[in-house]
Order: sequence, then structure tokens, then C-alpha cells
Amino acid sequence: MIIAIDGPAASGKSTVAKAVARRLGVRHLDTGAMYRAVTWLALERGVSTGDAEALAHMAEENPVSFEYLSDGPIADVVRIAGHDVTTAVRTPDVDANVSAVSAVPAVREALVARQRELADGREVVAEGRDIGTVVFPLAEVKVFLTASAQERARRRRIDLAGQGVEVDEAEVQARLERRDQYDSSREVSPLAAAGDATLLDTTGLTVEQVVDAIEALVEERR
Ligand code: C5P
Repeated sequence: MIIAIDGPAASGKSTVAKAVARRLGVRHLDTGAMYRAVTWLALERGVSTGDAEALAHMAEENPVSFEYLSDGPIADVVRIAGHDVTTAVRTPDVDANVSAVSAVPAVREALVARQRELADGREVVAEGRDIGTVVFPLAEVKVFLTASAQERARRRRIDLAGQGVEVDEAEVQARLERRDQYDSSREVSPLAAAGDATLLDTTGLTVEQVVDAIEALVEERR
């Protein structure tokens, strides 16, 4: 079974997708981490985010891989071109450049092919922007998570504070909205809910309530 979880930045996708993966014992696939890894490599190698051809070549030649050291459903390591980029892909620099890289059609083609390969023959909970629409249009369960921009900014600020980084919430909200605008308006595979996705507004819900709702959908389709 494929469980597709899409939604805008900081809508709770990662937290929810990981919790669903743990509860059901199904492998988690973080496709955002793959776009981030390619972006990290472009920054590391000084490849311009405007150079579509070089970016595409880089994405094709350097397949992103995940390592499951503890044999659990959640990857411990994200790797590209031999580098462990697990934490490096979460920097503001990558945040600021990832939408431009992921708007390149040939980068998407390379990563979508890799995502299908990683899911081949197994059950996965995949999270991203185009999972239910493009990557796995036949996924048995499709969920589109939303939450108000204010709530998403609040969550992101609390996350960052937990990592010792203090940020201005209004600024976080402005950056999230800018990234969503970019991701929603690109020509190829824009951020959008699949017609057959279940919309879940997580504003005011706990993680557990959202996971319960998704588990109920899984039970229905099984
Ligand atoms: O989910 P996350 O915020 O880590 O994704 C980072 C960026 O990667 C998104 O803002 C989007 O530009 C891109 N992305 C995408 N398609 C996906 C997953 C992520 O375009 N399936």
C-alpha cells in the first residue's frame, strides 16, 4: 500500500508522515529531503540555481539514498554523492534555494524516477507536494494536509526554538508563504491536492488526532 501525504511548507507533513510510518510499520519516504539534497549539492559545487541543464545533470548522476541504520521505518541518514547531508539540508540557505531547483522539470523527472524506484515492491508513506498527483497517482490513500499560515509559522518557530534558534514569527510566516506561492505556481507538478485526496485541516488538531484520521483511511482501503 502507498500512503501519499502532500501539503504546503510546515503543514505538519513530516511529523505526521513519520508518526504514521511508526504506527503502521511502513517505510517513510521524505521526497522534500531529496529536492533539498540536490539543492545542497548545487550550492556546494557552485552550480547556479538558474542553470537548469547543470542541475538536471547533477540530479541524474547523483541518486539520493536513504540509510535505515536502526532498521526502523524512518531513515537515519540522507546521502548524496557520498556526503551525509541529513542535517545540512535543513539550513536557511537550502530553504531559500530549494523551490528554484525543484521547479526545473528535468530535476523533477530524475527525482520522481528515483522515488518510484525507492518505493518499488514495498509499502511506503511518502510525503511531498506532488505525491498523490504525479509520483503515485494510484496511491491507495491520499491525504492533503493544510493549516493556516499563522499556525504553520507558529509551529516552525517552536521547532526552531527547540533547536536553539530564535526567529521572528512574522518573518517565518512571510518566508513560508513565499515558498508556497513559488511551489503552487510553478508549471510542472505544482503543489496541489489530488482530486481524490482527503483534505485534512490540522489547525487545532494534535498530531495524534491527525494520525488517527489517516489510520482510519488506511483501514478503510485495506
Ligand atoms: O517538504 P520540504 O519543505 O522539505 O520540501 C522542500 C521543497 O522541496 C519544497 O518547498 C518544494 O519546493 C520541493 N518539493 C517538491 N516536491 C516534492 C517535495 C518537495 O517540489 N514532492
